This record gives sequence, structure tokens and C-alpha cells, in this order.
Amino acid sequence: MTWQFTREFIKASFQDPSAGFQLREVTAEVRYDPLTRDSVRLFPFRQLGLPRHDWTPFVEQSRRGFCPFCPAVVEQVTPRFPEDFIPEGRLRRGDALLVPNLHPYEQYTGVIIMSSEHYVPIEDLKHDFMRDSFELAREFIVRARKYDREGSRYASINWNYMPYAGGSLIHPHWQVMAGTRPTNYAARMLERSGQYLNQHGSNYWDDLVAKEREGPRFVGSTGRVVWLATFAPRHLADITAVIPECRTIDDLTGQDVADLLVGLEKVIQYYNRLNIVSFNMAFYLSTDQDRGFTAHLRLVGRFTLFPVAGSDFSHLQVLHDEPWALYLPEDLAAGCRLYWQEGK
Ligand SMILES: [Zn+2]
Repeated sequence: MTWQFTREFIKASFQDPSAGFQLREVTAEVRYDPLTRDSVRLFPFRQLGLPRHDWTPFVEQSRRGFCPFCPAVVEQVTPRFPEDFIPEGRLRRGDALLVPNLHPYEQYTGVIIMSSEHYVPIEDLKHDFMRDSFELAREFIVRARKYDREGSRYASINWNYMPYAGGSLIHPHWQVMAGTRPTNYAARMLERSGQYLNQHGSNYWDDLVAKEREGPRFVGSTGRVVWLATFAPRHLADITAVIPECRTIDDLTGQDVADLLVGLEKVIQYYNRLNIVSFNMAFYLSTDQDRGFTAHLRLVGRFTLFPVAGSDFSHLQVLHDEPWALYLPEDLAAGCRLYWQEGK
């Protein structure tokens, strides 16, 4: 394990209009993801406070409109799976319901309607609330594998919470997908993880955890799940949760799910404290054949700096594939760690 975390500082200067046009030097930072070698930029706003966003008008407007996930209509307007795949048509667990995506973008896609409640505020996203949804996602992936092992090799569980994150409906839902090939980013991680194993003779994710444990970006553990502020964040408040020795859905124990969701609740509630009230989540899995990869969850905050619903994606992400973020990962870890220490 010889690698280092690589960061560079970029200095730019301008005559500052807020200080009589005196010459001022400003420092931004570039970090390189140790695995993918992707560069990311950390903007020089260090203590940026996000305004509290009030979702009430969005929620009220959405209640007046049509919601296909609300109990009155969900049975009539959501599709059912083909009988040879899922004979029940839809899968239910507790208050959560899994249905096919009406607009599929992968061979096997399920939408998990997390609750019969139309709106679940961020304060209520607790581990026990998310449990049925996760178990449904797991069951969907397991069934897809039994039904079509080759066609469902690469699976992930995803969440766009609230409109800033790209969620099309207020009603809380997850997206679970499985297909023959991984997404671009997952493919890069899988490829690099395999190369790393060949080159170093060890698992990158194990080495990452060993390197970060007790360091400035270590947040805490829940069971065997290790929570880290991501060194090279892809977006605001980027958190990575690694489940050592877990690659496929079969390696994930019931205890892992429970531990993962307890940690997820802590991070979400820390987001809430930072006024990050919208986020994206992905849980990446690999196949038996992909050596060197470890299943992990990634969570990033989504936001707008302005009262209008402006996007936090700019030319850098969309056309340059160059992520940028605002908070220092080390500051993020220090704040989030309190949720472990205080037992919140
Ligand atoms: Zn609804």
C-alpha cells in the first residue's frame, strides 16, 4: 500500500471590488480520486451556510396534482411485472411496495414506493423506516439473478430524495436496477479495483479503510460498515460507506443491512442539520467475477444557492465531467462524527 492521497492547490488573483480593488489571491484545490484518478475541484467557499429550504409549497402543489404512488390509485396506475418473472405482479413488504418502472432505462428496473405517505420529511428518514425498502430492493435483485443471471449481472440501489436531486415525484421512492453492464462510473471503479488488486496484491477498498481509519476523514463504524468523508468528493458532502468483504447481494447479511441503515440515518440527519434537504444515494454491487471490488454506498447532497429552484450542476459536471464541491471532506467528517459520538 504505497499510494498517497494527491491534492494540488491552484492560486488565482484578482483586484477585489469589495476591498477597494486591492489585489487578492484566492486558493482553490484539486484532488484526485485514488482509485479512478478522476480530478475534482474544491471551491474556495469554506464556511458556506446553505439557506433552509421550505418544501411546503412544493408538497402542497404536488398534493393538488396527480400522484401515481398514493394509495388511492397506485394499484390501478402502476404496472405489474410479467408473471414468469414475478408472479405476484408487485412485491410488498410492510408499507413499502415495489413496482416496475413505467419508463425503464435498464433491463430490470423496479421502483420502490417507500411508504403510503405522500411526503416523508427528512427528519422522518429513520433506519427502521428504510428497512422494508432495502429488503424489497434486495429481493428484487435476488429474483432478477435467479430469473436471468447474465441479464442482471450489475445491480444498484438508488435514491433521489426531493426535487433538487432529480426526483420526479415528492412521494418517496427508490430505484433499483440490474442489467448486463455497469454504468460508466461503476465500470471505471470495477476496472480500477481489478487493476489495483493485480498491481498491489490487495483489495483497494480494504486498503482505503485501513488508511482512513481514525484519520481526519473517518466518520465512524456501524457493525462492519465503515463510514468515510470521501477524499475526492463528487458533490456536496460526499460520504462513502464501505462494507468490507461484501461484493454481491449474496454477501450482504441481514445485520449488514441493519448496520448500513443505522449509519445512513445518522448521515441524513447530519445533512438535515447542514440544511442539505435533498440528496442522491447509490449502493454499488459487483459480480462474483469482478475481483478486487467491494460493495459500498455513496451519498451526496444536492442544493440550490438561490431561493429559486436553480440547478447545482454546471458546465463542469455536465460537459467537462469534472465534479466540484464546496465543503472540505475533513470538515464534513468532523461534523458528521458527532452523530456517532453522541449516539444520535
Ligand atoms: Zn403520493
